[in-house]
This record gives sequence, C-alpha cells and structure tokens, in this order.
Amino acid sequence: MPYSYSCKDFPGMEKCRGSFAAETEVELWKHIELHAREAHEEDPAKWSPDDRNGVKGIIRYTR
Ligand SMILES: [Zn+2]
Repeated sequence: MPYSYSCKDFPGMEKCRGSFAAETEVELWKHIELHAREAHEEDPAKWSPDDRNGVKGIIRYTR
C-alpha cells in the first residue's frame, strides 16, 4: 500500500510506535485520525490547518 505514516515522525511523538499504510491518502487520514483519538486522546476535528499540514508533510508515498 503506497501511502504510509509513522506517528514518531511527528514532532513530540517520537515515542509512539504507531504506523499505518493505506491504498489512498483519504483512507490513510482515517487511520491517522482514529489513532490520534484512541492513542493520544486528541480530537482531529479541532486540528488547525497547520496541524494538518504538519501531518501531511510526513505522509510518505512509495510505489
Ligand atoms: Zn501515535
């Protein structure tokens, strides 16, 4: 699956071992948001555009 994300790449999350992969970026975002909610007790609905850009910047795409 081409899109992947490692939570530890996000500043401040170095200790988190969560990582996800998906076929599409939309699906990957669902994994990321669910993980943020369950593992970090965050509310993705409250993420600012900057927060989302930070996440987007560390999403990897590999063929
Ligand atoms: Zn995490």
